[in-house]
Amino acid sequence: MLKTEETIEIIGARAHNLKNIDVTIPREKLVVITGVSGSGKSSLAFDTIYAEGQRRYIETFSAYARQFLGGLERPDVDKIDGLSPVIAIEQKTTSKSPRSTVGTITEIYDFLRLLYARAGDAYSYNTGEKMVSYSDEQIKELIVENFNGKRINILAPVVRSRKGHYRELFEQIAKQGFLKVRVDGTIRDLDYGMKVDRYKTHDIEIVIDRMAIDETEDTDKRLNESIKTAMYHGDDIMMIIEQESQEVRYFSRNLMCPTTGISYPNPEPNNFSFNSPKGACENCNGLGVVNEINLKKIVPNPKLSIKAGGFAPLGEMKSSWIFKQLEIIAHKFDFKLSDAIETIPQQAMDIILYGGNEKFEVVSKVMGITKEYKIDFEGISNFIKNQYDESNTASLKRWAKEFMDENECPVCEGSRLRKESLYFKIDDKNIGELVHMDVNELFDWFNNLPEKLSEKQNAIAVEVIKEIESRLQFLLDVGLNYLTLNRSSKSLSGGEAQRIRLATQIGSQLVGVLYILDEPSIGLHQRDNERLIKSLENLRDIGNSVIVVEHDKDMIERADYVIDIGPKAGRFGGKIISEGTPKELLKENTMTAQYMSGKMKIEVPTERRKGNGKTLKLSGATGNNLKNVTVEFPLGQMICVTGVSGSGKSTLINGTLYPILNAHFFNGVKKPQPYKKIEGLEHIDKVIEIDQSPIGRTPRSNPATYTDVFSEIRKLYTMTPEAMIRGYKAGRFSFNVSGGRCDTCEGSGVRTIEMSFLPDVYVECETCQGKRFNRETLEIRYKGKSISDVLNMTVDEAVDFFENIPKIYRKVKTIQDVGLGYITLGQQSTTLSGGEAQRIKLASELSKKDTGNTFYILDEPTTGLHFEDIRVLMNVINKLVDKGNTVLIIEHNLDVVKLADYIIDIGYEGGKGGGQLIAKGTPEEIVKNKKSYTAQFLKKELN
Ligand code: ADP
Ligand code: ADP
Ligand code: ZN
Ligand code: ZN
Repeated sequence: MLKTEETIEIIGARAHNLKNIDVTIPREKLVVITGVSGSGKSSLAFDTIYAEGQRRYIETFSAYARQFLGGLERPDVDKIDGLSPVIAIEQKTTSKSPRSTVGTITEIYDFLRLLYARAGDAYSYNTGEKMVSYSDEQIKELIVENFNGKRINILAPVVRSRKGHYRELFEQIAKQGFLKVRVDGTIRDLDYGMKVDRYKTHDIEIVIDRMAIDETEDTDKRLNESIKTAMYHGDDIMMIIEQESQEVRYFSRNLMCPTTGISYPNPEPNNFSFNSPKGACENCNGLGVVNEINLKKIVPNPKLSIKAGGFAPLGEMKSSWIFKQLEIIAHKFDFKLSDAIETIPQQAMDIILYGGNEKFEVVSKVMGITKEYKIDFEGISNFIKNQYDESNTASLKRWAKEFMDENECPVCEGSRLRKESLYFKIDDKNIGELVHMDVNELFDWFNNLPEKLSEKQNAIAVEVIKEIESRLQFLLDVGLNYLTLNRSSKSLSGGEAQRIRLATQIGSQLVGVLYILDEPSIGLHQRDNERLIKSLENLRDIGNSVIVVEHDKDMIERADYVIDIGPKAGRFGGKIISEGTPKELLKENTMTAQYMSGKMKIEVPTERRKGNGKTLKLSGATGNNLKNVTVEFPLGQMICVTGVSGSGKSTLINGTLYPILNAHFFNGVKKPQPYKKIEGLEHIDKVIEIDQSPIGRTPRSNPATYTDVFSEIRKLYTMTPEAMIRGYKAGRFSFNVSGGRCDTCEGSGVRTIEMSFLPDVYVECETCQGKRFNRETLEIRYKGKSISDVLNMTVDEAVDFFENIPKIYRKVKTIQDVGLGYITLGQQSTTLSGGEAQRIKLASELSKKDTGNTFYILDEPTTGLHFEDIRVLMNVINKLVDKGNTVLIIEHNLDVVKLADYIIDIGYEGGKGGGQLIAKGTPEEIVKNKKSYTAQFLKKELN
């Protein structure tokens, strides 16, 4: 028995499907919660333990602060003891801000800024020479050293490349007692001030002194004085000219180019921040990209006329001020609004796009009367740009953005920084070059750095380098070696974002925290699994409790304690079916135990499908890290795309292939990553992506509506005798149109309460008690059940109930076949998990009259799935392929990979070291490849 101070004790948990369970979880251990999908793992980990932790955390705030946060509702649990502060490391991308990058969220970029400010060497952007800054004493020594025995002029620069006549300046100089100035390279008397051409740019220096240099004490004294004076008038910069050779040298107390005299401020960390005005590129404000109007988006089809909506932002002609202006412009330039836009004169187009302001008169041909017209037009392009730059409404901005392209900023070339900031270097690299390196390269670079730095630099930098290296190490530990620091956080996948958060948590060295993670192995190749597990152990070993919701076999084996929830999903789950060490788990007879011990397993097929002999061929793909990849996808087979994280799988499939197919079949607008050619499109009929996104975002959508079985059910209800007598049509049984639905809740069964800072809250409608229909509609019964009762049936019940109605039976049966017998037909889609939503989509595809020529794309469909769920899922997918379709799956899970007919392995490494096709063929062929990481792990599965 564990002592209570060593445990978290949960009594009477009832969230969602949990069956009033008691659980004791050991503290400061690595605990895995597992079980089939929908069994209640998240309900326990997130909706009970984490929710209670959050609630208690908010309770500690002042009443004032709580009023904005809103009190969090108590989770449905009697009591939780021994709870420490809880941090959930979720898969949600951390930040959508374009200013957030891998470098900023890991804080590595902050340390880089510090490093460059303290230890960077500045170089001139004019000549590339090293910039120098001197003390007055050093300057004096240098002058004596360099000009001994020579005559020099000492000057103070006062005007550099500026226009003007400078009469007042010359008067001032005279008042201060100087006699000569140097104007544009020639020394002049002060009265030359009258002759300076005010329309040209000038360089002007005051001649402070002219003297011969030797090593006497008098010279020393005079130099001291003159340097001080020159620095005073020259604003910390002075100039020496050797009289005979006319050689020029600049000296500055600040960083300065010795040849051209440009100077930089002494650096501070903000000079390297793209989020500070001191460092940000002025052209793009530190975003690295600029939004520019794309005229093709404003006039997508120049053959259309203005009248027919040829200017996309304006739409078709209506009577409005803008179209009146266009008519006036047309009048002046003699075209008609019904002419094709391509025939409109350029001058007129310029006014339409960029604006104009003029009056003109037209003499009417008939009566000879003069009429005055006025063009006063901002221009469509300008208007859009102004809306984008200045509008405060998000929707207007979004509208404007539709007509713009995001291009790399031409000034900073995407580095986000000012020119000067990029001329600070360490070991020949500027900070922009470092953030372009991937974590691997950067780590190596830092390892080699100390020997390249001077002793002084090392002394300054050693602590900073240590901080950077340890953070890079954490990123390597969680398998993110291929990321670059400039990667914007909004472009990260859920798994990547989660592992970055994990890496930063390890770095924070907090102690006594309860961490909860949801499937951290997502997106991770088997090769990197070991390091991930080590990171979690590390988090535990420094004194934290770690709870992981996971299905991964290695992770379960390495846990200190495993909690298995089940036995099945939904209402048939919600109980603890076994708990203990992994060894103890194996002694039980649960499904998890049987899969762990190998008693149950997904069998390797004895034969691989040959496909239909046709292929889809994608040539010359070069997006992100892809190295001119050409691949053939054999049709009529199940294809797996494999490779370590960051190798380029998503770039190839989600970024290139899918947008190409989607544009071809459905006019999709997303631009594919660059490629040369696609061949074989004629062999397929359509493409369908089956992902884990919700099947609907409102309480109105549910499995019955999504799979369309509800239309059949409504038809059935119209054919009941009572409905025929009353003349009820199908609309009567719809909750989306008025007539039969409850008027109060408009058929949703719930009332939405908007919470200002929190997600909407739904409460049951008090008129219909959640039944969604009005009394008359509910009076219609089929086999004793109302339409509302049907929505409350589980799929399993519906299969029996509609046994004799083939059209309905076939559809509900497919939902049952994908393992979702436990959900109800009317369950709000917002409460379905990602895996459940994905399987509903599969079911809906399966029940369609298929063409047998569809190309399906799935990205890591095993997310959130237990071994048993994967078996069920793969049965479904096999059925799709057996009908002649092609199914392409991006996957790491070997239980899926081993079932493939054909594997496309990308690698070898992630990031720059990846992006190549390294192996292709059946699993049996792939395992022969010596260099493929996938092969190494797959081999074990095939035996
Ligand atoms: P797991 O994490 O094991 O996949 P969950 O804890 O997410 O399972 O879900 C357990 C059961 O509770 C499932 O049947 C699921 O459909 C249901 N469920 C989950 N969230 C909600 C919710 N917000 N409202 C109602 N039911 C829910
Ligand atoms: P995988 O799907 O195999 O994990 P990805 O296609 O996501 O690999 O990544 C391949 C390479 O492209 C990696 O180096 C990754 O960092 C880079 N990459 C992916 N998406 C982006 C993006 N939006 N912007 C910049 N680089 C990206
Ligand atoms: Zn820029
Ligand atoms: Zn109602």
